[in-house]
Amino acid sequence: MAKLHPPGAPVAVQTTQPLDRALDYRAPPDGVADGAFVEVPLGPRLVLGVVWGEAAGDWPVEKLRGVARVLDVPPMDPAFRDFVERAAAYTLTPLPAMLRLALRAPGLGGAEGRRRVYRGGDGTPDRMTPAREKVLALLDERPDDVFALSELADLAGVSTGVVKGLLPSGAVQEIVRPRDADFPPLDASRPGKPLAEDQAAAADALRTGFAAGGYRTTLLRGVTGSGKTEVYLEAVAECLARGRQALVLLPEIALTAEFLTRVEARFGARPAEWHSGVTQAERRRTWKKAAEGQARLIVGARSALFLPFRELGLIVVDEEHDTSYKQEDGVLYSARDMAVLRASCEGAQVVLASATPSLESWANAEAGKYARLDLTSRFGDAVLPRLGTIDMRDADIPSGRWISPRLHDAITGRLAAGEQSLVFLNRRGYAPVTLCRACGQQIACRHCDARMVEHRFRRELMCHQCGETAPIPVACPSCGAEGKLAAVGPGVERMAEEVTGLFPEARVAVLSSDLFGSSRALKARVEEIAAGEADIIVGTQLVAKGHNFPHLTLVGVIDADLGLQGSDLRAAERTYQLMRQVSGRAGRAERPGEALLQTWQPEHPVIRAILSGDEEAFLREEAGQRRAAGVPPYGRMAGIVISDPEAGVAFDVGNALARRAAMLEDVGAEVYGPAPAPIARIRGRHRVRLLVKAPRQAPIQPALAAWVGAVEIPRSTRLSIDIDPQSFL
Ligand code: ADP
Ligand code: ZN
Repeated sequence: MAKLHPPGAPVAVQTTQPLDRALDYRAPPDGVADGAFVEVPLGPRLVLGVVWGEAAGDWPVEKLRGVARVLDVPPMDPAFRDFVERAAAYTLTPLPAMLRLALRAPGLGGAEGRRRVYRGGDGTPDRMTPAREKVLALLDERPDDVFALSELADLAGVSTGVVKGLLPSGAVQEIVRPRDADFPPLDASRPGKPLAEDQAAAADALRTGFAAGGYRTTLLRGVTGSGKTEVYLEAVAECLARGRQALVLLPEIALTAEFLTRVEARFGARPAEWHSGVTQAERRRTWKKAAEGQARLIVGARSALFLPFRELGLIVVDEEHDTSYKQEDGVLYSARDMAVLRASCEGAQVVLASATPSLESWANAEAGKYARLDLTSRFGDAVLPRLGTIDMRDADIPSGRWISPRLHDAITGRLAAGEQSLVFLNRRGYAPVTLCRACGQQIACRHCDARMVEHRFRRELMCHQCGETAPIPVACPSCGAEGKLAAVGPGVERMAEEVTGLFPEARVAVLSSDLFGSSRALKARVEEIAAGEADIIVGTQLVAKGHNFPHLTLVGVIDADLGLQGSDLRAAERTYQLMRQVSGRAGRAERPGEALLQTWQPEHPVIRAILSGDEEAFLREEAGQRRAAGVPPYGRMAGIVISDPEAGVAFDVGNALARRAAMLEDVGAEVYGPAPAPIARIRGRHRVRLLVKAPRQAPIQPALAAWVGAVEIPRSTRLSIDIDPQSFL
């Protein structure tokens, strides 16, 4: 039981307001538990907070204001509070900002009791208006969801009056229901699929981890299609059977449809969900049921790590190498690393699953910090795809075309056999560059140091940095010449055009994240394609992530060299992972698959490593280079980005930091920069970078905080510190 603070006792309350310390309040007439979620007065307002122990005591008790209300949810567990504090310290995030992640339950402070929700009905309105159509179209698309009134109006882009106007006809239904129904129980005792020998051994090892108790992380490495999911579902079953809660993190919402079905098949009911595609009402329910311990299994995106579990026993991070686990704005954190931290606070197990583990996790397994399990063959009769390269230096292709004759032949063969092909290019839009053939200028974003990318399907130009869009102009914005603008280079939409031209009889499906208005529409399309409703899929990295397309037997990579060009320290690792993952989409069922990589440099060591499939050799080689250079995972890094509307101001701050670099010498850290960031301007702000490098074990956070604190930062300037940066742009 949490410690109870008696009525009137001074307590510290940590709020989510940007203050540098907890505030003191008096406990309410019934007392209050340590960790309780409360509302407290702050100036004229009431704000949310958590009771964070005894008051500091530097204010006389009589002068303290009282806690206004204790929320009707179980108090925050000490292990969870410990995690939030440690995560804040590790990422150099102010505690209130970190705590906000743990309090992101819509309507948490709202009144209890019954509430009104809205969903689609059978009636037809007497009169149709464009606004009404928007509401009905949304409800049509999401027949299983119920919405709060304001949420429904917001999502449809109409006023709440429009929604209410649809009630009398029965086209929209209002239902009054008690808040937050329980989730259906999961039956952990149901048998799973019979496991193959290596699967069974891995599942046993994971179960043993639970028997041993306490914290442990296991890297579950298995080639694509080896059955990693079946194996970690056994760990979930064991966790549930032991009466503890489990969390499965997935990188992409699009993945969850298939996953939820698999959970239902395994445990007889669907788990709770937590991601941006879930309605506010559902999110609140999941949060509360996690806190009560009623939601036993939660499937979610990275922010699910900040749910208030009561007795967390297992966190699975599926596709642990995926870069989307790094939150790149607001609070900068790696969900994979924070999963390990949370589990160590809670005495829970972690399973990191991947076909192509990150070098970080691989190195931790090598060093004995993580246990490691390997599944080396595909399940059943499925075999790994054959890999080959196509040397583009020999390929005879007209300019403005990208599909080599050999890839063309291979696709023709699959069409004849009634099998699917995937044409893969990791670049959204029609063309990355629009060039004026009269003046030689490229069309650039007004606010960013970036080119506008043509999106022909949507008939617009778009900046991938700030999202600014503009109609595709007829005349060059620089010189005014008409009819001289030319698309340069391929994007996935242009590949679709080429494919349609080459194979006019084929059904072509384009899968790119920006072509779908909602995650539901994308899910539906993915399911259709999996069912065979396409002959050729043209896709970006969206398709590299875990989807099962049983009819897919050929993967053609248009530009295997694309990711090798940058100077990113992980360029080789990322290219290796992406190529192996996308190749792994082929031949997942009975028929064997083939992957053909178009490349201009077939002798490049990374391309050769991809072909050989000797992942251990690749990782060892890569590890050797990183160790020699003292970079992650063998060295520590922090990226500092300073931005300001004036480039000079940003540089002044950068130079002031560089002059004080000696402050970091105690922890053995070196400072590089300042230098203009590779993307030197975003949204009108000039960006300057510094890079801090330190030995692996150096406690750099306090030193960084002192260093940055020693420099005066103008009001117009923003400074962000990214511990263990993944992006260097
Ligand atoms: P991974 O996550 O390693 O890519 P999955 O767990 O998705 O692999 O398994 C690949 C395919 O093989 C899936 O369709 C899955 O249902 C099937 N599969 C894996 N293991 C078994 C098993 N023991 N029994 C039946 N089917 C299995
Ligand atoms: Zn822009």
